[in-house]
Amino acid sequence: MPSDNLDDLFAHNRAWSAQMERDRPGFFTGLVKQQTPRYMWIGCSDSRVPANQITGLEPGEVFVHRNVANIVVHSDLNALSAIQFAVEHLKVEHIMVVGHYGCAGVKAALNGTRIGLADNWIRHIQDVRDRHHVMLDSLPEDVRADALCELNVAEQVVNVAVSTVMVDAWSRGQKVTIHGWTFGVHDGLLQDQGLSVDGTKPLEPQYKAVVQRIRYKWSTPAALAGDSGTETPAA
Ligand SMILES: [Zn+2]
Repeated sequence: MPSDNLDDLFAHNRAWSAQMERDRPGFFTGLVKQQTPRYMWIGCSDSRVPANQITGLEPGEVFVHRNVANIVVHSDLNALSAIQFAVEHLKVEHIMVVGHYGCAGVKAALNGTRIGLADNWIRHIQDVRDRHHVMLDSLPEDVRADALCELNVAEQVVNVAVSTVMVDAWSRGQKVTIHGWTFGVHDGLLQDQGLSVDGTKPLEPQYKAVVQRIRYKWSTPAALAGDSGTETPAA
C-alpha cells in the first residue's frame, strides 16, 4: 500500500542521491555545470509514462515537456518556449513526440466525454478525430482509441515541424529530427511510428504515408478490401 507520509519521498530521495554518488562519484557535481541533453521528449502528463525511466536515461540526458495527451498547439507559448530552449540553447538533436495507448485524453476526445476545462484542450484531438473520421469509423470499435493515439502523434509531429522554432532552425542548417513514437502502458514498450522529420523532405507526403500505415495497421482485411481509403481533407 502506498504511504501518505511524504517523508517517505524525501527518504527515497536521500537514498537515491547517495546511491548515485556511490555508483557515479561526481555525478551531481557534473550536472551542476551544465545540462547537455541530446533529446527532447514531448509526452503525456500521465504518471505511467515517465520519460527517463522508459528510456533508461539519467538526469541531464533528456529535456522534457509534458501535458495532457501530448499536444503541441500552434499558439501554446509554454510548449513553444520549451522547444525553442531545447533547440536553440541546448541544441538537442532529436525531439520525440510520444503518445501512449490507453490515454484518457485521447479516449475522452474520441467519445466526446465531458471532463471539464480540459474539454477545450482535448478539442485539439477531436479536430484530429474529425479530420480522420472516415478511417476511424471504418475501424473496429475497440481499436479506434489506439488508432487515434497514433494519428494524434503524427499530427503533433507536424505541429512541431511547422513551428517557427523548427522552420528557423532548419533554415540555419541545424540538424534536428522530430520523431513520432507511442508507448504501451500494457507492455512498457516504445514503438516508432515511422514518422521522422528533419526538414529536408516535404512534410505532406510523409504525413500521408503514416496516416495510410495507421489505417492498414488497424483495419480488418474486409474493410480494406471494400474501402477506398479516402480521407476528409485537412481544413
Ligand atoms: Zn495520456
